[in-house]
Amino acid sequence: MGFRTLDDAAPTGKRVLVRTDFNVPMEDGRVTDDTRLKAAVPTIQDLRKAGARVVLISHFDRPKGQRVPSMSLRPVAEPLSRLIGAPVAFADDCVGPAAKAAVDALKDGDVVLLENLRFHPGEEKNDPAFAKALAELGDLYVNDAFSAAHRAHASTEGIAHLLPAYAGRSMQNELEHLERALGTPERPVMGIVGGAKVSTKLDLLENLVGKLQYLAIGGGMANTFRFAQGYDVGASLCEKEMAGTAKEILDKAEAAGCQVLLPTDVVVATDLKSYAPSRTVELGQIGPDEKIFDVGPGSLQQVLDAMSEARTLIWNGPLGVFEVPPFDRGTVAAARHAAELVKSGRLIAVAGGGDTVAALNMAGVAQDFTFVSTAGGAFLEWMEGRILPGVAALSI
Ligand code: ADP
Ligand code: MG
Repeated sequence: MGFRTLDDAAPTGKRVLVRTDFNVPMEDGRVTDDTRLKAAVPTIQDLRKAGARVVLISHFDRPKGQRVPSMSLRPVAEPLSRLIGAPVAFADDCVGPAAKAAVDALKDGDVVLLENLRFHPGEEKNDPAFAKALAELGDLYVNDAFSAAHRAHASTEGIAHLLPAYAGRSMQNELEHLERALGTPERPVMGIVGGAKVSTKLDLLENLVGKLQYLAIGGGMANTFRFAQGYDVGASLCEKEMAGTAKEILDKAEAAGCQVLLPTDVVVATDLKSYAPSRTVELGQIGPDEKIFDVGPGSLQQVLDAMSEARTLIWNGPLGVFEVPPFDRGTVAAARHAAELVKSGRLIAVAGGGDTVAALNMAGVAQDFTFVSTAGGAFLEWMEGRILPGVAALSI
């Protein structure tokens, strides 16, 4: 892949602007989950070790171009400083005199965090003047925020054209794993796509059928596919108006030589409640007031068998309503099987998506996957085959 990394940079004594994603969960001015802070540590430490002057920039929440005090990045400085074992200074603005003074005060190896980029309307507008004001604070630019790379903002796109630009460690790691899963993967490649609706995953499905040998479709969206084939899905979630589109996707898959696995048996119930009375039925035997909440054991076995044959797995979307037991069974079993295959060295498994990550954590196997992306929207857009502006701006 064509982008520069920190290995290509000569940052000693230089001011390095690092775009991070510090849009962390916060309650009453305290960081409640530091996953995203930890993700930035390798880049920060590599730069400090090399004697760079590290200037961290990030957005936080949606202040919409206004200075909103409750959306300050200030509470991030202290927990970050504990993670890197060094002070993290804070500047009240990300451009202008306050930012310049804070950056000028840095010595080699020091770190400063600048205030929320989105306090300025120029950030989200990718305003060239704002990008220039940011660029004046640095000699080099490092983008370490894959999760913000689907937005062409001043700090993710504009600035990359104004300074020598590099991918940070976290960005590099994400791009290398995604490339390994869909760019130049080991075949056969299998996809699992689940979740609630076909309509939210259309572009993703269309992109994948051209790249996969197996595609397992589960979750609520599988109902729409089965409905399109003429099956009665009872009272299940089903986007009837998407039936034509679902058929087109199946035709496209067939033409591309992608084998689509759809549920043959399902777990149904009339109420979505924990341990509500449920039964396992073949397709065609669903009652009019019953709803499909999970794949059945036969369908699950098909998924596991395909996984055992695959060398690469890319997964977005749970196979059932995993939040409500016992409808988590299919998702959890599939996740554990994938984890076992990864551990025995037979499978490369990459997963992403908010609910998918939650499901893998619930199954206790997230750490066993080859890579789990927490990038949300950027991950989905990448799975749709889109070129992410923040990544494109780094390419050489
Ligand atoms: P991700 O966040 O990983 O991209 P989605 O948001 O697309 O995943 O899908 C997750 C949601 O899909 C979950 O809330 C889950 O309960 C729901 N879901 C899965 N299977 C079904 C089903 N059979 N009926 C209704 N909703 C379902
Ligand atoms: Mg979701």
